[in-house]
This record gives sequence, structure tokens and C-alpha cells, in this order.
Amino acid sequence: MDLMQKKTSGKNLQPDTVLAHTGRDPGDFHGFVNPPVVHASTVLYPDVETMASGGQRYSYGRRGTPTTEALENAITELEGAAGSRLANSGLNAVALACLSCLKAGDHFLIPDTAYGPTRHFADTVLPNLNVVVEYYDPALGENIRSLFRPNTTAVFVEAPGSLTFEMQDIPAIADAAKGIGATVLMDNTWASPLYCKPLELGVDLSIQAGTKYIVGHSDVMLGTIAASAKAWPGLNSLHGAMGVHVAPDDVYLALRGLRTMSVRLERHYKNTMAVIDWLRDRPEVGAIRYPALETDPGHAIWKRDFSGASGLFAFDFKEGTTADQSARFFNTLNLFGLGFSWGGFESLAIPVKLKGIRTATQVAPNFQSARLHIGLEDPKDLISDLEQAFEKAFT
Ligand SMILES: *Cc1c(COP(=O)(O)O)cnc(C)c1O
Repeated sequence: MDLMQKKTSGKNLQPDTVLAHTGRDPGDFHGFVNPPVVHASTVLYPDVETMASGGQRYSYGRRGTPTTEALENAITELEGAAGSRLANSGLNAVALACLSCLKAGDHFLIPDTAYGPTRHFADTVLPNLNVVVEYYDPALGENIRSLFRPNTTAVFVEAPGSLTFEMQDIPAIADAAKGIGATVLMDNTWASPLYCKPLELGVDLSIQAGTKYIVGHSDVMLGTIAASAKAWPGLNSLHGAMGVHVAPDDVYLALRGLRTMSVRLERHYKNTMAVIDWLRDRPEVGAIRYPALETDPGHAIWKRDFSGASGLFAFDFKEGTTADQSARFFNTLNLFGLGFSWGGFESLAIPVKLKGIRTATQVAPNFQSARLHIGLEDPKDLISDLEQAFEKAFT
């Protein structure tokens, strides 16, 4: 069928075009634009010979369906990877990626600024497997070499850092890691595969909490892991061995979210800049943590390695702000929901306590801080909401 010729792979198309065409082949499904939602466990074989040869495209629901394969193919193409696997959540993707390249006796470096639950996984699961976890200062670039041991086999990176938004010199770290044959893993959730291409920066395993911008509508938990040729066999094998399977309706929603990710991100970015521009002049606000700001310490690296910024940032309340004032601010917000996660169409806010969350570096401020996710609402309304909350909190 002619429609089957409409493959996008290998054609060097622009990312927006890839998002519209990747992970679907209407020729496979009678011309319907989207792949079907296949609910499946058993797949039937025509005869014992086919069953024995393993020559059939699908073998069992857990091993993959046209629905899961469509999203995996899309992620593989978007990330420029050798292969991709889906996970049940972003955290599950982190855990699977780590387990796919670590074994007993290994030394594993993790930035001090990694996502909190990633640290929890590393602190509670990996020691039982006799993996030695060491946290490092995210500001280390090529000097990460000074921490390498004979058994260092993997280095994790995450930029910008969780809650504090430090950038990392990923090409320098990846280069150093390559020198000792170590695998580099990156949690790239903040930038999405549109604004940062980890594999092009030297990363082997690129992790997304698909829950955030890929799904984009706060209604599905899902993770993705894209692997380089070096990391793919390990990832594929571990993923199969662990029996990970993501339900087809959720995969379908992620695939649907992916189609509009670029236009959503563009608006998240624009709205965020508008809100930050306003926040900068507020007397209640101290430091703003967002690498796209030219005053941010990570701005030069962001500009070099990323092609855009998303809707998540943090700010400190001015010095001397009390816990009561901070609580009143959050309690008074109307349009900003008070809740965890981010990446959906709606704006969110959470109070952040920086004290005590780092072990390898100092987080200086004992300030009251806020993390905001700027959604797709009109920024004028978001600014009005913030303004009335500041006024009620600080008078
Ligand atoms: C949310 C998040 C995760 C975890 O994703 P879940 O789908 O919530 O498990 C991992 N890394 C980062 C940076 C995140 O923001």
C-alpha cells in the first residue's frame, strides 16, 4: 500500500514534522491516521513452525503491541536513539535505566541535584545490590574525573537540577565518562526531547518522565528510556526480564500528547518568560532560578546545549519572609493549583524547602522558596493571581 511509503525515519526532517508523522503508519491499519489501541495478552500463531521460529512480529502482549511499538518508535526517532522502551512512570524509567547498566561492585555517580525520588531509589535499592552510590557537585564538568574509581561504570546527569535548576556541562561529563567506558544516563524531563537531545551530547540512556510534557494533560503516568547502540542491548534485556508493560490506553494518550508537544512547549516557554519578567520587579521576590534567564548562572551552558526552556522554575521569597507569609501566598492562589508533578496544561505551585536536601554540596539559602509550573492559561491572568496572593500574604 502506498501509504506505507510515508515513513519518516532517516529523512532528516525538522522536529515539528517528526512529531506529526512519527510512530504511525496508516498503511498498516486501513488508512486510519492513528494506530489502534490494542488490548492484548495472547497473540495467536498460524502453526507450530512459526511459533518455534520466533519469526512472527508480535509474540505476546507483554512483549509489545502495535500501540506500544508506535510510541517506542516515535521516541526512538525523536531522540535519535538505537531503541527505546516504555516504563510505568518517570521514576520507573529512572530505575530501569540504572538497573540496565549496573551490577554488583559498581561505583555510580549521581549529581547532588537529582530528582528526590531518584535519590531515594539510589539510596534504598542500589546498596542492596552492592552498587556504591556517590553524589557529586553538579558544577563539576570534566573535573568529574577526579571522582572516578576503577569500578566507576555509570554517571547520572540531570539538567537543570531538581528544585534548584543548576545546569551541568553534560558534553564534558560525557566525554570524561567515555574515557573510562562508563555509561552516561540523563534525566531530560525538564527540556523534553525537543529542547535537549541527550544522545547528541554524548549520553547513552535518555530518560523522560513522559508524565510531564509528552502526556501533557495531567492524566497519565508514564516513562520513556531511549538508548544509544552501546546501551540498547542492556536496556532491552533488563526491560524484558522485569516484565514491564504499560497499558495501551495510557500509551495512546501519550502518543496523542506527543503530537502537540511542540506547540504546547512553545507557549509554556513564552508564558513563563512573561510571568518571570513581571516577578523580577516584585519586592517580595529574591533569586529566580531558570536557566533561560540571562542572569542565571547556568545560562551560558543552557544556551549552548538546549534550544528552548519549559514552564518550570523556582524563586526565593525575599530574605526575612516568614513561613506564615509563604503559606498564605500558596493558600491564596486561585488559578495555580497546589500539587505535585507538572507538565500539564495547567499552572501549579508548591512550596520548596531547600534545607537538608543536598549531601555533596551546600544549598546556601534557608529562604522560603516556591516552584511554579506555568501552564497554558493567559499569563495576564496568572500574573493577576500572583499579584493578589503577594498582596494578601505580605500585608
Ligand atoms: C516527575 C519527574 C520524574 C518522575 O516522573 P513520574 O512519572 O512522576 O514518576 C523524574 N524526573 C523528573 C525530573 C521529574 O520531574
